[in-house]
Amino acid sequence: MVMKGKKGIILGVANNKSIAYGIAKQCAEQGATIAFTYLNDSLKKRVVPIAEEFGFSDYVYPCDVSNPEEIKALKESLEKDMGQIDFIVHSIAFAPKEGLSGRFYDIGKDAFDIAMDISVYSLIEVTRELKPLMSDSSSILTLTYYGGAKYIPNYNLMGVAKAALEMTVKYMSEDLGKDGIRVNAISAGPIKTLAAAGIGEFRFMLKWNEAHAPLKKNVTTTEVGNSGMYLLSDLSSAVTGEIHYVDCGFNIMGMPATTFNEDGKQVIAWNGDK
Ligand code: NAP
Repeated sequence: MVMKGKKGIILGVANNKSIAYGIAKQCAEQGATIAFTYLNDSLKKRVVPIAEEFGFSDYVYPCDVSNPEEIKALKESLEKDMGQIDFIVHSIAFAPKEGLSGRFYDIGKDAFDIAMDISVYSLIEVTRELKPLMSDSSSILTLTYYGGAKYIPNYNLMGVAKAALEMTVKYMSEDLGKDGIRVNAISAGPIKTLAAAGIGEFRFMLKWNEAHAPLKKNVTTTEVGNSGMYLLSDLSSAVTGEIHYVDCGFNIMGMPATTFNEDGKQVIAWNGDK
């Protein structure tokens, strides 16, 4: 039981399709005690049954990360109910719909600010507030996507936010290393979740990834959960500041692989039409 004795909080479980759910499941199976948060009262009813499923219904708290008072209140509740914690999972992102399709340069300042606040600054603020509770062998994990490193159609505003998030991971890992706190990100391949549904042409992204990734498949939340569990556990005690790709290898491809058709002609190995 790799996570036995570890206590932590997971922000960003919306339902059992969420990446955060996959991470919670693998951590719980390895013995971790987990607290969960929900965005508002109407979403509480989705999160409570999930906490119950894992046996942690005593540790469910409200937290809209755009509200600093709720982050402060979360710290007080965790201190009272859990004392020290060993890990934080930040699996949260949001961009207004206008930022996820169309021409990037049309983006308005309000949409830009909202995406950066919820998807990037929240990692800094949550970490700063919860740091007094963190043990000297702690791990923080956030979730990013390849669209923060390279151009991906329609990912637009979220791509810029993920680029900022990835650098935030690096600067925070240096800052917090002296306190025994590691900070890493998983760059997950595309997965059909609620958040992903907002991205234009998402189904095409899934098909393209499956066809061109070296493993010729899309990643599952269980697979991301396993890698997340490793990064939260002491198995990764010398790993910090990393952007760890869990994407079936898609990010290493510089060009789609080729194959030969029945006429002996070299063609792209595309099977996305199947
Ligand atoms: P998801 O299940 O929809 O999770 C996103 C979570 O963010 C939800 O729980 C959502 O809460 C929460 N959230 C949004 N605004 C919030 C706020 N102001 N305060 C607190 N929570 C807020 O989707 P997901 O795909 O698992 O996303 C998790 C993370 O993985 C995101 O950072 C995403 O960018 C990243 N990621 C996703 C993919 C993919 O293809 N799915 C790939 C790579 C990285 P509500 O649902 O309650 O609004």
